[in-house]
Amino acid sequence: MNSKDYIKLEDKYGANNYKPLDVVISRGEGVWVWDTEGNKYMDFLAAYSAVNQGHCHKKIISAAKEQIDQLTLTSRAFRNDKLGLFYEKICTMTGFEKCLPMNSGAEAVETAIKLARKWGYKKKQVEDNGAEIIVADGNFHGRTTTIVGFSSEEQYKDGFGPFTPGFKIVRFGDVEDLKKAINKNTVGILLEPAQGEGGIIFPGSGYLREVRKICDEENIMFMLDEIQSGLGRTGKLFCYEHDNIRPDALIVGKALSGGVYPVSAVLADGKYMNVFNPGDHGSTYGGNPVAAVVGLAALEVIEEENLVENSRVLGEYMMEELRKIDSAKIKEIRGQGLWIGVELNNDAGGARIYCEELMKLGLLCKETHEHVIRIAPPLVITREEIDWALNKIKKVL
Ligand SMILES: *Cc1c(COP(=O)(O)O)cnc(C)c1O
Repeated sequence: MNSKDYIKLEDKYGANNYKPLDVVISRGEGVWVWDTEGNKYMDFLAAYSAVNQGHCHKKIISAAKEQIDQLTLTSRAFRNDKLGLFYEKICTMTGFEKCLPMNSGAEAVETAIKLARKWGYKKKQVEDNGAEIIVADGNFHGRTTTIVGFSSEEQYKDGFGPFTPGFKIVRFGDVEDLKKAINKNTVGILLEPAQGEGGIIFPGSGYLREVRKICDEENIMFMLDEIQSGLGRTGKLFCYEHDNIRPDALIVGKALSGGVYPVSAVLADGKYMNVFNPGDHGSTYGGNPVAAVVGLAALEVIEEENLVENSRVLGEYMMEELRKIDSAKIKEIRGQGLWIGVELNNDAGGARIYCEELMKLGLLCKETHEHVIRIAPPLVITREEIDWALNKIKKVL
């Protein structure tokens, strides 16, 4: 079979909810992937930052292989000998007291929502069924019915109502708008520190610090979704560190497994997390021993290979070099670490065509929104590899 056959097969039997670039990948290593015809590409998306550690990282893969031969799933009805080690690692590394493991990112967001509501009723004494959570315009937190219900993207909601009540949308980056939305029933504020799917949008420096202050004054749980921005992507372990704050609940996923397996988690201190009692919440696969060893190895790789520092240094270099490109097509280049959005002018014809051109040159990028080319390579990338990619980007722009 060749790529055309695989594409035909997918299109015949698969639901039509994605429109991938027509490259059929069969192997990956580090920043590189190969298609079924043996063509080599550099991956500049890294599975939306799930593959920060690079494709098929040897340490993570061998941890997974070893575990699969031993034990894969007990469910949380019984304990396993790996979960505690993962908890210890993630809590020490992030500085939170407690961890609640799930699988997909959306499930972890749902978990944080349940945590905020439960905390609101049990600790803040909010009236029954009155809890409100404030979210931002342009957010992306996943695809469950509750989460799409508070999306501001019409397509994500269209045809999926009725939606879960209890959410208010405010303008991202606008402190006054946020203040106006708060009332005695506000239990939580849920934000991405920078919006990835929204087009690599930064709220402006000081915003998170202001939100932190408001949450302290009003006794509101501050939840940050760092599923995409976290674990090194922006040149800090977490994006919120740029503002010298700490959220009350931290949501992680994607790179928590280095792309090997779905692993997500919510982190919070005991004063929040302890509102959960046995039976309140759970997941059959959440916290299974394969997820635990994969998550542990993925976190160790970030530390051992200095991926946070690499993201910071090479991100700065890449931004500088991109800004040197003299092209009428470019409207703005913005980013933090190795997370860069190249926004094109409206008359440039949309980012998709440039992604298709880059693919022909061996560089895999994905547009986000209509006009933004998102740059987010695996954080194991080297300066030479970045130069290789810059060359292709220059050609296309
Ligand atoms: C990808 C993503 C999610 C959803 O994660 P899934 O694993 O696809 O459910 C949630 N929030 C953010 C910020 C994301 O980037």
